[in-house]
Amino acid sequence: MKQDRYQQTISKTTSVQGFGLFTNADVTVTFLPAEENTGIVFERIDLPGHPQIPADIDFIAAEERRTKLVNGTASVEMIEHVMAALAGLQIDNCRIQVNSPELPGCDGSALPYAAALLDGQPISQSAKRNIIVINEENTVEEGDAIISTAPYFSGLRISYDLNYGLNSCILPQLADFSITPETFVTKIAAARTFVLEQEIEYLQRQGYGQKVTTADLLVYGENGPVGNSLRAHNECARHKLLDCLGDLALCGCDVQGHIRAFRSGHRHNHQLARRLKQMVPYQSQQTIKAA
Ligand SMILES: [Zn+2]
Repeated sequence: MKQDRYQQTISKTTSVQGFGLFTNADVTVTFLPAEENTGIVFERIDLPGHPQIPADIDFIAAEERRTKLVNGTASVEMIEHVMAALAGLQIDNCRIQVNSPELPGCDGSALPYAAALLDGQPISQSAKRNIIVINEENTVEEGDAIISTAPYFSGLRISYDLNYGLNSCILPQLADFSITPETFVTKIAAARTFVLEQEIEYLQRQGYGQKVTTADLLVYGENGPVGNSLRAHNECARHKLLDCLGDLALCGCDVQGHIRAFRSGHRHNHQLARRLKQMVPYQSQQTIKAA
């Protein structure tokens, strides 16, 4: 059964401060209410003319390990955790001002964003939210990675099957949730980004992540997380599910279906979001001009 609902925004301005995990730059993210059918729009208030960048799959830029949007010469990156928080809480219309290109990593999870957005008091608007109902299988496959869609009777369900093989220090694990604001806040939002110890050492030699410590994300050594403990036995799979939710939100509408993912990452999520956007029944007027 199709699950209609009304669009939502926030009632009051709210913000999150931190630093970018890659660029090390301090940044403030300010969430502002927005009218119906605005969608999610980033604004680079540190640049002349405050260029806008729509959170839409058509504005995606190729980038490793994170999701980046570009409009003309303006960009914003590491947006997936903010997008997951907005999608998880069903906040559809929001202007997001940032004063640096990379969003804060916070504790590696979406929980600080979810807390700020709840503090902004989500409120229902009078327009209905567009919804795509998945009626058939749709698969994106590349090497070992697969992400596919299947019909589902109610709302959105995402299953993430993480398996890097038996020699990996990250054990095989599964996360499988029906996505509602309640499951997002209680089961998904707190799951943190993870990285292997040798990967972070490599990135730091390149000049990235200079401020990052083992408190800012999960750093995996041979014996599990270094200087940190897991928030759930399947925290890594939950985080991959969180990234998938945030990336798929770039299609700009609700999805009713079952998304099944195996070893997939941002690039595969983006390909699926692009296909989903082509299924959108109605596109609201795009009011964003090129920067
Ligand atoms: Zn992530």
